[in-house]
Amino acid sequence: MKKVEPDSPNRCQGTTNLGQCQYPKQEDSDYCSKCNPTKEFNDKKKSSDLYRVERYKSRIARLRSHANANTLEDEVAILRMLLEEQLQKIENNVQLVIEAPRLSALVEKIEKAVVSCSKLKKQSGSTLDKVQLINFADKVVTIIDENISDKDIVNLIADKIIGEIPRDSETIT
Ligand SMILES: [Zn+2]
Repeated sequence: MKKVEPDSPNRCQGTTNLGQCQYPKQEDSDYCSKCNPTKEFNDKKKSSDLYRVERYKSRIARLRSHANANTLEDEVAILRMLLEEQLQKIENNVQLVIEAPRLSALVEKIEKAVVSCSKLKKQSGSTLDKVQLINFADKVVTIIDENISDKDIVNLIADKIIGEIPRDSETIT
């Protein structure tokens, strides 16, 4: 790149360690390509932001669509791999001290994920059992209703069957 005259209107407005930059400015800019990496930087940042947003979105979609323990198990596996990777990078005590906060944060995340994973498993299991039970009771009552004409007796039997379904604190959704 050719330098311009000090008083040139085309002179870059950037500052270097030698004072004002001596290179000509670019079109549509007050800076030369050396002083103004901003556009490229912004483009890069923009695309990495987009990438991050996309990843976040697809993760949420995945979590929503499955909303079960399996995806959480995936998360745990990924976190464990991350932890392993981090541990492999450590070669001495100094590095260990430096990396300690990050490592303990990872361990904490893994722990949390494992806990919610087992909670979800428990929840989905009992919810499914109860829903199945209710559906079965519904079928039984329907069969009785179809075969017994005395609706008072049907109601009585239905009440008793429904009464047998355990009422626990677990919510049915
Ligand atoms: Zn410049």
